[in-house]
Amino acid sequence: MKASLTTKLGFVLGEGTARAVKRAFGYETVEELLRHYPRKIVPNGQLTELAHLAVDDHVTVLARIISFRHHKFGPGGRKMRTEVIISDGADELQLTIFNKPWLFSKIQGGELGLFAGTVSSYRGQLQLTQPDMQLIHDEEQAESSRMLRAFLPIYPATTRLSSWKIAECIDLALDALGDITDPIDTRVRADYVDLQDAFVQLHRPNSVEEFRSAMERFIFEEAFVLQAALAQRQITSERDPATPRPVVADQLRERFLRDLPFRLTQGQENVRAVIEGDLAQTHPMHRLLQGEVGSGKTVLALSAMLQVVDCGGQAALLAPTEVLAHQHFRSFSASVGDLVQIDLLTGSLGAAQKRAVKERIANGQTNIVVGTHALIQEDVEFADLGLVVIDEQHRFGVEQRAALTMKSATRPHVLVMTATPIPRTVALTAFGDLDTSELRELPAGRQEIQTVLVSLMKEPGWFSRIWERAREEVQAGSQVYVLCSRIGEGDDEGETQSVVSTYERLISGPLRGIDVAMLHGQLDAKEKDRVMADFAANRVSVLVATTVIEVGIDVPNSTLMVILDADRFGLAQLHQLRGRVGRGTKPGLCLLVTNAEPDSEAIERLSILTSSNDGFEIARKDLTYRREGDVLGTHQSGVRSNLRLLSVVDHESVIIQAHELAEQLVRSDPDLVAHPELARLIRDLNEAERYLEKT
Ligand code: ADP
Ligand code: MG
Repeated sequence: MKASLTTKLGFVLGEGTARAVKRAFGYETVEELLRHYPRKIVPNGQLTELAHLAVDDHVTVLARIISFRHHKFGPGGRKMRTEVIISDGADELQLTIFNKPWLFSKIQGGELGLFAGTVSSYRGQLQLTQPDMQLIHDEEQAESSRMLRAFLPIYPATTRLSSWKIAECIDLALDALGDITDPIDTRVRADYVDLQDAFVQLHRPNSVEEFRSAMERFIFEEAFVLQAALAQRQITSERDPATPRPVVADQLRERFLRDLPFRLTQGQENVRAVIEGDLAQTHPMHRLLQGEVGSGKTVLALSAMLQVVDCGGQAALLAPTEVLAHQHFRSFSASVGDLVQIDLLTGSLGAAQKRAVKERIANGQTNIVVGTHALIQEDVEFADLGLVVIDEQHRFGVEQRAALTMKSATRPHVLVMTATPIPRTVALTAFGDLDTSELRELPAGRQEIQTVLVSLMKEPGWFSRIWERAREEVQAGSQVYVLCSRIGEGDDEGETQSVVSTYERLISGPLRGIDVAMLHGQLDAKEKDRVMADFAANRVSVLVATTVIEVGIDVPNSTLMVILDADRFGLAQLHQLRGRVGRGTKPGLCLLVTNAEPDSEAIERLSILTSSNDGFEIARKDLTYRREGDVLGTHQSGVRSNLRLLSVVDHESVIIQAHELAEQLVRSDPDLVAHPELARLIRDLNEAERYLEKT
């Protein structure tokens, strides 16, 4: 009987080996094992280069035994050590093997073999101790065997399960495998290799091209399955019912828009119309609104919230930090506080206050609630939640989005806003189930932000000049941010400057006599709120802070942003930070201060900011400097952890292609009746994601 992809490994490998594979990698089925992708393939015949080994590498080398010696030691000479020297033709490596008496008869010298282990160093010499080994005695007969194929796949291995043990298992699985159905439709797949051939080419490639085309297929498949899963979610949610909240004439929303002290930009008008349309639908809106810092997203959010309130529903705005929640609460209260009941719910409220707020939310008195994670964590019951706005999405995960939308009998509409422009591939990967809108223009009359790179290695004298400049700004009535990458001493981060030490240095030196305050995550909520309120009212002139001020903070009187150790931050983050200045009538200046070596990559990266003010372009370039995990963010999406081959950095065109094809396919067959294998992969993906979100 032939095996299928879902066959348990025990049938193919035997129970003992199957258990070892499960212990090493958690694999239980033939498919899981066959999807153990080689790290690379190495041409056979050309022996592994011993010259490139390094201590702690887990290696598998193909080499020839050139000499060996057995030593007896211990009481009665009952213990044995064998030292073997192997060579790849150019370099040599010593193997030290303890207590393997069968080696006496096994080794003659001159044999070719595979040797696996962890490279260690003994008396300055690299060696493998107690390696796993497989000798190839009869090279001619071995010709047809795995070892002497054109290429050897090198697999991610563990100390217990070496690369070729894995190869042996995979070989058994491949030999046992019957005909399989490709989960990807032939028409979709077009030029990619089918699954059956792809497995063979992946594990037994005859050429580099074969291996590459197999890998391309698996990369495409990963993108396609993910996109199909997202498309299915989106299409399913379109079938969920939601209460329509159409525009009601002559009510709060209209009044608010009419009384705005400015005209909406064309971009804002367009997005406003789209959202108004979404809210009137009988299925929930799931929209991502991306827009530069200061592009005016919040106005649109408030207008949408009022539209829902006009229909008798409630709206919730979820902010990533207390500081931001307070700021929104203050500004909403100032603009519409006399028309609607606005409440604030954060973790730092006292128990009695919390209870009172929750009660108002539950009995429908509250029209708009602004809050932090507390909105999700607390047992908040809404009377009639119509809209959830999530500000600065990158701090919130998909699971949290879901948690909040569960807080209501029918599904609320959801608007997600982010000022960190997300390159298309990332948006498609992390938020593929959201519709997206963009605000690309800034309201007219916005001030330019000038950005200057201050390289202290090159111009040490600039450091004192920075504080003179800060003093000048303050004397002109403006305000200044000073940003540090960490809070205090003790959190060992090498040479970087902390909020605490910078604050102390400034108040006792260059900024003596000026009102300086500190803001960071370790202050208690009341203190943070007080500091922010003081800064907003210009009772504090200089704010020394961590990235708690990264998003959303709006103090238009600030003109100077000094970022110390700027190389410690991501480009998108720096772009956000500099967006805190130049928000009023006065132009902004951002100083990126760094100790990085001149001509280093850090300097090169930072200079992208001095030459561009376009957040989308910066985000795009930033991608190339960051690792995958950073790009998708730690909490952004469980999906990310299921990406093994796909990279949002390297596979842009594959992702876009997969997105289009997946959307087409799922639209034509939402329940994937005609594609059961694809449905199975999507189920696995969703399950893995749910599992990850729980842990
Ligand atoms: P975002 O949330 O996108 O960063 P905000 O909505 O906070 O931006 O807007 C930044 C500032 O610009 C606010 O003070 C807001 O009142 C103002 N603003 C918004 N839209 C306009 C506009 N069309 N013209 C002038 N000012 C605007
Ligand atoms: Mg904002």
